Amino acid sequence: MTLKANNVTVLGAGLVGSLLSIYLAKRGLNVEMYERRNDMRQRQAERGRSINLALSERGWLALERVGIREQVEKVAIPMNGRMVHGVDGTLSFQPYGKEGQAIYSVSRSGLNAALMDCAQQLHNVPIHFEHRCSSVDFTNKEIHFETPGASVTKPYDVLFGADGAFSALRYAMQRTDRFEYSQTYIEHGYKELTIPAGLNHTWLIEKNALHIWPRKNFMLIALPNLDGSFTCTLFFQFDGEESFSTVNTAEKAKAFFEKYFADAIQWMPDYVDQYMQNPTSSLVTIRCYPWSHDAACLIGDASHGIVPFFGQGMNAGFEDCRVLDELMNEHADWSTLFEAFQRSRKPNADAIAEMALNNFIEMRDLVADPHFLKKKKIEKRIAELFPDSFVSAYGMVSFTNLPYSEALQRGREQDRLLEKLTAIDALDNNIICQEVKKLIK
Ligand code: FAD
Repeated sequence: MTLKANNVTVLGAGLVGSLLSIYLAKRGLNVEMYERRNDMRQRQAERGRSINLALSERGWLALERVGIREQVEKVAIPMNGRMVHGVDGTLSFQPYGKEGQAIYSVSRSGLNAALMDCAQQLHNVPIHFEHRCSSVDFTNKEIHFETPGASVTKPYDVLFGADGAFSALRYAMQRTDRFEYSQTYIEHGYKELTIPAGLNHTWLIEKNALHIWPRKNFMLIALPNLDGSFTCTLFFQFDGEESFSTVNTAEKAKAFFEKYFADAIQWMPDYVDQYMQNPTSSLVTIRCYPWSHDAACLIGDASHGIVPFFGQGMNAGFEDCRVLDELMNEHADWSTLFEAFQRSRKPNADAIAEMALNNFIEMRDLVADPHFLKKKKIEKRIAELFPDSFVSAYGMVSFTNLPYSEALQRGREQDRLLEKLTAIDALDNNIICQEVKKLIK
């Protein structure tokens, strides 16, 4: 099946489906999108849902390739580092990278709307809303949809499943022979809260930072929004002595926040109501393989759902689109393209899934663990001594386009070195230089 002469159907007009449609339409393919929900551009962002995301280098590059980087830059807020809030209210700022390096807070709905507009208006991609894919028939190449009041069946030539972590296309693939699949929940869930804007849409806390209240077993984070507010996310165990299941009344919520987040609640007067009313959601890692079956292929969260602690889920999905597009230059038919795509992306998806899980521990421990802090200090010193050859694991993931699997591998080697150096009491620059040079060699 050659790449040219086909109609392409994309399930899901979320972040990845919309960007993918732009890439495919730019290549002159006939693309159509089907989306379960109604048009999000016509409704207010849902309360209690994640409303902003951290966009980093991989995401930017993928947006740049389709010409919408500049448009998004105008509404993105740079976060140059982490602002760590101690239990006693002390603040410490940890820059993310070198001078000028930042990750960016963007509105999830704003970005999704911009991508849909670009697909629909600039590239004439029709979006069929309120079409929930209920099943896919690979033999007859048909998709079944539920729409308000009717079930409809549509044929497809080539099908992409960008329909998120609980993908209907993947569900159909799970019934095919030798399809590997796992979903793993962590013991923490999350709840979103909002710090409102100050007077005249000013930011009540530092605007250009990702705020973290690390509390060992749980943490609160906050990302800035353009209107002056912050979206906070509380990551907390479902069960245990202090958990969503025990902090379950207004009185207990008040006592819990007063004990652990005393500075945050002064900016969030209605925190108890928000805590009691906003939904609690779970966090899952999804792994599967292969990602393609005949003329159908998974992409984004549908193929690799990861926990959000590295802020990379969307960035990884955007990178999928960029890599697929690059591979389209080398492959003349869909089946070899899909094979090359899944082979290239699967090790990287596995690597970022692992790093995302590990980063939760790193974020929760930021102030609590002296060993960790010493390690971070040494890492910083090495980065200053070897600015051109040493990049931290965080930096490789967030500020480069190095494949995630390489970032994981190099990060492991660097971590071994850091552990070794952390154990040395009288550490000086000479010892550091010797050890780093050995590693580089
Ligand atoms: P989705 O965004 O889930 O979109 C899927 C689309 O398909 C939706 O529009 C859905 O309605 C539609 N759909 C679903 N089922 C069907 C069906 N049966 N038929 C038709 N349509 C269907 N990533 C980052 O890079 N940075 C961050 O800072 C970050 N923060 C996060 C914070 C939290 C709390 C969470 C949970 C995730 C975070 N992520 C982050 C991850 C990011 O949200 C996802 O990786 C990203 O949304 C994946 O995009 P997607 O298009 O693949 O899937």
